[in-house]
Amino acid sequence: MAAIKRSAPKKIYEGDYLFMKSYVCPVCDNKLRIATVKAGTARMIGQDWDLRPIHKDIDIQKYDVVHCNKCGFAVLKRYFGVLPKPHKELILKKITEQYDPLADPVGMVLTYDEAMTRYKLALLCAAIRQVHDSELGLITLKMAWLYRAQKLALGDDVENFTKAVRIKYDGFLDYEEKYLKKAMDYLIKARQTEEPPIAGMNETAIDFLLASLCGHFGKFDDAARLVSGILQSKQSSSSQKDRARDMLDEFKSKRERV
Ligand SMILES: [Zn+2]
Repeated sequence: MAAIKRSAPKKIYEGDYLFMKSYVCPVCDNKLRIATVKAGTARMIGQDWDLRPIHKDIDIQKYDVVHCNKCGFAVLKRYFGVLPKPHKELILKKITEQYDPLADPVGMVLTYDEAMTRYKLALLCAAIRQVHDSELGLITLKMAWLYRAQKLALGDDVENFTKAVRIKYDGFLDYEEKYLKKAMDYLIKARQTEEPPIAGMNETAIDFLLASLCGHFGKFDDAARLVSGILQSKQSSSSQKDRARDMLDEFKSKRERV
């Protein structure tokens, strides 16, 4: 009897979730085509403690920067838009004059190195333009997530890593922590000086994120103060208050152990 031929399930590639979206550079008017995640295609399968979303088959964070390879301007997609003339002049003088174009990626898919280079440019351009702390906070938070993703890709059997892999792992971990700390500092300043939504987060969401970051870095008093605010806020739902109470207990027990 002839064997029934079954076709193998179709393998999904990162590129299947992407398309090239057109933009016009707000600094030099260059026409750009930027790899972008197709709306509604990537399936979220989890979330880390600091809101990092995890999607099946793709790391969507890699595709969150609009970058012009002619003038070197880069910006998070959330903040893409017309630039005031003084900002254009600053970018032309402080970025474009020294800018060496990057090698084009092979196809639409970006490697982590290629994505990180674009984020570093976005951070530099944002700092030069003196944007709000919330924007700097979101860029650095996403950079921490990209380092974490690279760290996790090495596996979790840390004790059995070869020396070379362990060095890579520790390097990614160091950068992850460094950028998480920067994100916390920027977002704390943003919370004090800007009105929510902050980086797209309402008051409760930003306070949960800041409490998690403060707890991560051992600032338990600050973390407890933030979740106490969530407990007292009329805007918080009962499930958010339950979560805030759990976090408050966790911070209290961690503080006692320190
Ligand atoms: Zn440009």
